[in-house]
Amino acid sequence: MKKIALLLPFLALFGCGSEPKTEVETIPQVVNIYSHRHYDIDQSLFDKFKAETGISVNVVKAGADELLVRLEQEGANSPADLLITSDAGRLARAAEKGFLQTMNSAVVNEQVPSYLRDANDLWTGLTMRARVIVCSKDRVPQGSVQNYADLAKAEWKGKVLCRSSDNLYNQSLLAAMIANVGDSAATIWAKSVRENMARNPKGNDRDQVMAIAAGEGDVAIVNTYYLGLLFNSENTEEVEAANQVYVVFPDQSGNGTHVNISGAGLLKNAPNKENAIKLVEFLLNEESQRAYADANYEYPVRKGVKASELLISWGDFKQDELNLSLLGTNNPKAVEAFQKAGWE
Ligand code: FE
Repeated sequence: MKKIALLLPFLALFGCGSEPKTEVETIPQVVNIYSHRHYDIDQSLFDKFKAETGISVNVVKAGADELLVRLEQEGANSPADLLITSDAGRLARAAEKGFLQTMNSAVVNEQVPSYLRDANDLWTGLTMRARVIVCSKDRVPQGSVQNYADLAKAEWKGKVLCRSSDNLYNQSLLAAMIANVGDSAATIWAKSVRENMARNPKGNDRDQVMAIAAGEGDVAIVNTYYLGLLFNSENTEEVEAANQVYVVFPDQSGNGTHVNISGAGLLKNAPNKENAIKLVEFLLNEESQRAYADANYEYPVRKGVKASELLISWGDFKQDELNLSLLGTNNPKAVEAFQKAGWE
């Protein structure tokens, strides 16, 4: 249906026999995106891209798994050019299913660090986030939590807050841990953290910070940009909650803090391949990278572009430079480990 709808302006131009042939040149240029992201900044960058290039950006938004099912069903007839998701694990899954093709973009290859893009050039990160630990300023002395492993210690019994294991960010954190320390150690970690939880896992990352402010727990695992959004919220309660916690970048003397990306994969049957690559390169230019950083508190992936002031204030940190493709490879193991651990 979608394909037919997209062809209509096309047919309208050809349908009128009296039109001169030069009309063909006015066929609207498009790029079609299937996106799991839900941020205003994305749309404003797409609008800017259209203003600069004349290429319209059509977006279908849905959950990452739903989009993968849709791509499977559409097969070679899919109108989609790019798959954008907020987790490398799902891009890696799309790559494994054979949905993607190589990008061959000098901008991607030269400007994005290799661990933030696919080893086979099928997808690239557009922005980065770190999965950090936040602690109550009042109740958790500085230095008492330094690693993910600390959250599994008995002293944090009844004090840990985290969202459920059906969330991709948690699955990717555990997938990275599996790559670093193996299945059984990762499963034991998940089981101990689950046993330390202040309440059954629920809510999103922001809700965990709100729960620390409400005194429900003392330490939580969250993505950095959610903290940025809380600090800059119009809701004073959210700002106050953010001010009651401090940020710990875990595993600084080990593998480094787990990072993940929002990224784009070029779909195998992309009808507008060139436009799609143009858009990816546009989203990776310095101005777009700054826009993501300023509006959404995401870390730029382009080398040399600075993060927002707030993120800089938390300090530099060592990132786990594990190739993010492994998040997809290890995802089924991570899901299984959470099940074994009883982390619902
Ligand atoms: Fe998110």
